[in-house]
Amino acid sequence: MVMSFQFPAYFTAIFIITRVMSIMKISKPLDVHHKDIRAVDLATKLSVDPSAIESASRDFGGIVKAEPEAVLHPSAPQDIAALIKFSYSSSVPFGIAAKGHGHSARGQAMAENGVVVDMRSMANNRRNGTGIRVSIDRLYADVGGEQLWIDVLNATLEYGLAPVSWTDYLYLTVGGTLSNAGISGQTFRYGPQISNVLEMDVITGKADFLTCSPRMNSELFYAVLGGLGQFGIITRARIPLQPAPKGVKWVRLLYDDFSSFTKDQELLISKNGRKDKSALDYLEGSLLMDQGSPDNWRSSFFPHKDHPKIISLITKHGIIYCLEIVKHYDDRTKHTVDKEMKQVLQGLNYMPGFMFGKDVGYEEFLNRVRSGELKLKSQGLWDVPHPWLNLFIPKSQISDFNNGVFRDIVLERNITTGPVLVYPMNRQKRDDRMSAVIPDEEIFYTVGFLHSSGFDTWEAFEDQNKDIMRFCNKTGILVKQYLPHYSTKEEWVHHFGSKWKVFQHRKYQFDPRMLLSPGQRIFNNN
Ligand code: FAD
Repeated sequence: MVMSFQFPAYFTAIFIITRVMSIMKISKPLDVHHKDIRAVDLATKLSVDPSAIESASRDFGGIVKAEPEAVLHPSAPQDIAALIKFSYSSSVPFGIAAKGHGHSARGQAMAENGVVVDMRSMANNRRNGTGIRVSIDRLYADVGGEQLWIDVLNATLEYGLAPVSWTDYLYLTVGGTLSNAGISGQTFRYGPQISNVLEMDVITGKADFLTCSPRMNSELFYAVLGGLGQFGIITRARIPLQPAPKGVKWVRLLYDDFSSFTKDQELLISKNGRKDKSALDYLEGSLLMDQGSPDNWRSSFFPHKDHPKIISLITKHGIIYCLEIVKHYDDRTKHTVDKEMKQVLQGLNYMPGFMFGKDVGYEEFLNRVRSGELKLKSQGLWDVPHPWLNLFIPKSQISDFNNGVFRDIVLERNITTGPVLVYPMNRQKRDDRMSAVIPDEEIFYTVGFLHSSGFDTWEAFEDQNKDIMRFCNKTGILVKQYLPHYSTKEEWVHHFGSKWKVFQHRKYQFDPRMLLSPGQRIFNNN
């Protein structure tokens, strides 16, 4: 279904268009008889205010800086469509980047000399097809692409419902995570967030406003999921819901041996049926290294009284591996969940005496990273550079990765600050028609180096990241980047591998003038 907008053609539009064009530094005048440009509206929503430009030039990563010419503050999807149409029909088109919450680490939501669309401007505008609407009967929520997952959680919990697949941190937008994948400890069981979308409204790079799903405009649907913002701007996604649990049993287990750690992780994720009540609801893993405390900004979990014994273990082994699992409970299962967790733990090979447990509310668990964020913000340590590296590693090579990267590069450099995540997920929970790229094997691990650095020390972390990539290339570890960033076309072609041709074809089909998400530097990297 193509939705078309009736744009008023006011005489004054001529003046405004000229102004917009001068903002864009477009020299050739647009055909002023063009009836379908909401120029008046559009110009009033474009800002060249220095603070808006400055904010659109930055992201969470704090490493890349790229100034747009203007920032659009849309109040409805129609404003975005008008902007895209404007650029699409200009003789010299300009780049357009949707900016969700700007939590990218490498300028992916920037548009140098173009226009950044501040999606959050639409956040509270429920009248225009955005916002969050819950269908209790049909168990789904229609959510605007600009909505934060924390708001989706709160809105659905009001009805005792919740989505099933999450990210660790909830202050990210729906459009932003669906453009990547959206992974966390639920992924092994429910698939990433991109596997949990029923349909979407998308404005393509040709300004077509389309509803897409596996049955309707399916090529666009699969292109956009994990599509790095290249094919269209998501203005609505329909997310399936389930009854929300009341609370969670949350357990961490420590290992000094990597092979026992990964064996147990793989055993636990082998039970992954959506309806299998004996399956875990969440599984992750991380490294504990000598950073003064076994806790980090992302989580305070271990009882204080146990810190000394954990620290002495870390000092002895250099790295300790921490397996983290969760089982949900509700009113019906709250009396049996402990027994079920005990059964799960039986036969696992963690270090005796190093099992730690907690019982917390469901929302508190999902929103667990927030308190760390607020603490860092209060110390002025949140808005610092984040030279992150996120990877997917095939299961058959994760042991080589442990030896060559964790135990060699990381320990030797001894600069790693912040969490290092390591946990497995499975290919079968994804649809290969989606744009997102993963290794070829059925089981693969995600490894996330979530560094925070000082303003003048981030390059040391970048060097380490480069070392890690060099090691993988040299030893033939078939690594894929998650939240990828590359600077040459060859690297992107290599990244997409067998998917490159389809990816490129879809670009020509949905964004032939290469307008969208230029900050990813896939089609405009020269
Ligand atoms: P932005 O950074 O604003 O945009 C990201 C990309 O998506 C850009 O290319 C942008 O143009 C495009 N885009 C944005 N909105 C739309 C839209 N509506 N339609 C089309 N394209 C759009 N990721 C995980 O998977 N799991 C995690 O657990 C996780 N935890 C994180 C924790 C923190 C503290 C941070 C900073 C990031 C984390 N991430 C995680 C990464 C995060 O999912 C991505 O960086 C995501 O893109 C951020 O969302 P955003 O709304 O800030 O997107």
